[in-house]
Amino acid sequence: MVKAVVGANWGDEGKGKITDMMAEKADIIIRFQGGANAGHTIVNNYGKFALHTLPSGVFYSHTTSIIGNGVALNIPILINEIQSIIDRGVPKPKILVSDRAQIVMPYHILLDQYEEERLGKNSFGSTKSGIAPFYSDKFAKIGFQVSELFDEEVLQDKAHRVLETKNILFTHLYHKEPMQPEALIATLHEYRDMIAPYVCDVSAFLDRALKEGKTILLEGQLGTLKDPDHGIYPMVTSSSTLAAYGAIGAGVPPYEIKEIVTVCKAYSSAVGAGAFVSEIFGDEADELRRRGGDGGEYGATTGRPRRMGWFDCVASKYGCRLQGTTDVAFTVLDVLGYLDEIPVCTGYEIDGEVTTDFPVTTKLEKAKPVLTVLPGWKCDIRGIKEYDALPENCRKYVEFIEEQIGYPITMVSNGPGRDDIIYRKSPLQKSI
Ligand code: GDP
Repeated sequence: MVKAVVGANWGDEGKGKITDMMAEKADIIIRFQGGANAGHTIVNNYGKFALHTLPSGVFYSHTTSIIGNGVALNIPILINEIQSIIDRGVPKPKILVSDRAQIVMPYHILLDQYEEERLGKNSFGSTKSGIAPFYSDKFAKIGFQVSELFDEEVLQDKAHRVLETKNILFTHLYHKEPMQPEALIATLHEYRDMIAPYVCDVSAFLDRALKEGKTILLEGQLGTLKDPDHGIYPMVTSSSTLAAYGAIGAGVPPYEIKEIVTVCKAYSSAVGAGAFVSEIFGDEADELRRRGGDGGEYGATTGRPRRMGWFDCVASKYGCRLQGTTDVAFTVLDVLGYLDEIPVCTGYEIDGEVTTDFPVTTKLEKAKPVLTVLPGWKCDIRGIKEYDALPENCRKYVEFIEEQIGYPITMVSNGPGRDDIIYRKSPLQKSI
């Protein structure tokens, strides 16, 4: 069967930790969208890792880790990441890369940088990893699939053709040097040799695995609010962050996805530009940022400070609904132990009216948070293993949020490690 681990919010909810934990009982872990533009931080018995491309299941020797066709594949980053975990003592992982995955090209990265420079203060806050130009080319049908690296005629012809238009942009729009086709082709030959050992017909592999009764985990990147259709467009990412897209970006039938674990962090954080209704500023934000996550809320890929906010029930209810949540994993709850009182955003006021329905972007820009203040629990909850052993105010916080979002919180994460997890029976639990 297939399970998905996805985010309810803006990303950085702790999906890496939950995937690493769930991977213990899985056979295959697959990335189905996104690229090396965001990272997952994982703490386990080998140490602390920031993964950008590899699935978070690479630390077990019984798992196969897959880069699905929906991913923006940056070949040198993938190869370096594999080597870097091996260098730190992790057994060589079994890795497969879809022959239909498309490749982030050197010109995608340059175009991303140049365009953000050109936009100046109107920039998207892109990580400049080439993701938006990559997906634009994919849908403009001028992308390169991994399989094309192995057909010299196609490669030569396409590299020349595509560079014609890219070079017009480089020279005339951005006033930079053009890219030479020979140099690009030489790079693509290097990519071909690097990726060759991993290439696989992934959907056929997964079909066989399902027939053999294997468990497959789909690992999402970012969260619902960064989805290009259902998120805060245009401040979104360029590939769908929803569990439903897992069927497409991995190549499995949609009805095989039986469990959708949506990860929600106990407070909010966001990177990049865009409306963020429950955002906080100043000392209050600095303190939460410093104490947040595991060693502070700073981007795993970019190191930039994340924007901070209180838990947002409106955004999270919507985020869970669009994912098709069967279970909520509620993470980083331990971090809130320092607060006397904890505000939670329970509604948006837009033009004088309060709503709990997440609006379209034009209205979202006008929304002001309606806050409900809950009492804190003022102690360290790390190490607690049973839900009933949590302080009463902590349980009340979890239960209040569960009621507001309307999806069952069945896992509470109270530390970054694999074992820092509390399983909980929820009154809202049902299985699909
Ligand atoms: P992802 O992209 O959704 O995987 O999230 P990130 O890796 O960017 O951010 C999550 C951060 O929180 C990482 O540093 C994790 O190690 C850390 N983390 C995850 N769960 C918990 C938790 O329950 N408590 C604490 N303190 N840190 C956590």
